[in-house]
Amino acid sequence: MLMLKVLLGCAVALAATAAPAQAPRAVQIAPGSYMVQGLSALGTPANRNFISNAAFVVTPDGVVVVDALGSPALAQELLGEIGRITPAPVRYVILTHYHADHVYGLQAFKAAGATIIAHRDGQQYLNSETAALRLQASRETLAPAVDAQTRLVAADHWIDGPTTLHLGGVDFLLQPAGPAHTAEDLVVWVPQHRLLVAGDLVFRGRVPFVGQADSGRWIAALDRLIAFDAAVIVPGHGPVSTSARADLELTRDYLAYLRQTMGEAARNLDPFDEAYARTDWSRFEQLPLFGAANRINAYNTYLLMEQSTK
Ligand SMILES: [Zn+2]
Repeated sequence: MLMLKVLLGCAVALAATAAPAQAPRAVQIAPGSYMVQGLSALGTPANRNFISNAAFVVTPDGVVVVDALGSPALAQELLGEIGRITPAPVRYVILTHYHADHVYGLQAFKAAGATIIAHRDGQQYLNSETAALRLQASRETLAPAVDAQTRLVAADHWIDGPTTLHLGGVDFLLQPAGPAHTAEDLVVWVPQHRLLVAGDLVFRGRVPFVGQADSGRWIAALDRLIAFDAAVIVPGHGPVSTSARADLELTRDYLAYLRQTMGEAARNLDPFDEAYARTDWSRFEQLPLFGAANRINAYNTYLLMEQSTK
């Protein structure tokens, strides 16, 4: 019996080391352009907070990375993946926004000599008590991936408006797109490859969770992204999109439909339940997460529109 236990222990240890899905693997998405895709999960010690995506573009003069992943160890592995593809150094890291799962890896890039760029409105979150408390909590819930050595890293350059970065013959347009998901939303547009790295403004082929977001501002942000006419979109979470325009338009049209139908109900003082029941949802009800999200999205929008009619 004791022998069996020992053998089982070995089998478990072997299985644990043979689980590469938990580590960043670079996949090419456009010429010289790559992404690593995080897991669809909550951050845990086992996945080391690998729940968000990062992208990078290789140029002859160095590499531009967008987003820094959710822990220093993951960022170190991303540097390893980049090193497998090019000997060129990482010159810049651009942040789409200052949420934990996109920035806890920054210190590894900083140590590798990269310059960090973010929208100035990210300073507010960076210096907030919320950010400090969140890091404190993560040092416990995500240990040892996030520990006492993990720190919040400020950008070296805070940008205030659209900014173009030129590196090795490639242009990167850094376009503020917020406030929508956060105040500091920034998207990165690479016109040569029609590549858009969009952070958390884009949900692919599913009903989004609207929550307390201001859907009017979100629609405006999506319209700005649609104007880029991207061929490839890297979202903040989930797989790459090569049906970029359709994905953006679906989210925008869904939000607009919520505002139209629930806005009319709020203006007419129709009770929510009645308005919800008579609304034609047929265009969206086949989408993933419709059942889980639509009623609460409609209700939040009804409350938002009710406020705006007062
Ligand atoms: Zn995110």
